Amino acid sequence: MIELKTPAEIEKMAVTGRFVASVLREMTERAEPGVNLLDLEQRARDMVAERGAQSCYWDYAPSFGEGPFRNVICLSVNDAVLHGKPFDYTLADGDVLTCDFAVLIDGWAADAAVTVQVGDQTPDVTALIDSTRRALAAAIAQAKPGNRLGDVSAAIGAVARQDGYPVNTDFGGHGIGREMHGDPHIPNRGRPGKGLPLRAGLTLAIEPWWGMGTDRLVTDPDGWTLRLADGKPGAHSEHTVAITDDGPRILTVED
Ligand code: MG
Repeated sequence: MIELKTPAEIEKMAVTGRFVASVLREMTERAEPGVNLLDLEQRARDMVAERGAQSCYWDYAPSFGEGPFRNVICLSVNDAVLHGKPFDYTLADGDVLTCDFAVLIDGWAADAAVTVQVGDQTPDVTALIDSTRRALAAAIAQAKPGNRLGDVSAAIGAVARQDGYPVNTDFGGHGIGREMHGDPHIPNRGRPGKGLPLRAGLTLAIEPWWGMGTDRLVTDPDGWTLRLADGKPGAHSEHTVAITDDGPRILTVED
C-alpha cells in the first residue's frame, strides 16, 4: 500500500532526514586510512542514542538477510556495495567506503547512502561515484507530480548506460514513511512514461548503485554483505525525497 503524506508529515520526515545527513557527514569525515569500521559503527550508535532515534537496521530480518542485523549502519568496502555488515577491518588508503543509514525519529523514517574513497583518490573510482551521484540528481529531478515512476527509473538507467556501467534491478529504491521499506519498488532502470503516477505526498528513497564491471552480486558468508562478483568496487548514492506540489524536496540534507 502506498501512503501519501501530508505536508506536516513530510516536515517530520525532514527532521529525521536532517539527522541522517548529519550522521553520514560524520561518517565520511571520520573515514580515513587507519580507522576501523567498528569505530564508525560505535560512533553511529552513540549519535543514534544521543538523538533518541530508533535504528531501522537493528534487529532487521528481511528475506534477503541472514537473521537479525545487529548494527545501526551498513558499511560496505570496495567490491562490497550493499548491506555491508560492519566488521573488524581497518580502512586502507584508496578503499572505497559506502555508508548506508536509516533511522526513525518520532515514528518517521529517512534513509540515505553515500560512497567515498578513503585517502588517495583514483580517477576510475571518482568517475564511478560521480556517476551514481549524477544519476541520483537526474532521478530526483523527475520526482514531481505529473510524471510517472518509470521516469525516475529511466533517468537513473540513462546515466548508467551513458557512463557504461551495468545495472542490477534486484535491489533499488523504495517507498518510505512510517517504515524504512515500503511500496513502490523503484528499479534503477525503466521506461519513461510508465508505471505509478507520481503525486504530491509520495515519499521515496531513490538509490542508484552500480559497479565498474558487473551487475552480478554474491553474498558474503556473513549472510548480509553483497559483493560485486568481479571483485571491482561499487558505489551507491541515496536520498529520501518527498514529491510536493512545488516539485521534489530532498529530505536527507542538513540545513
Ligand atoms: Mg539506504
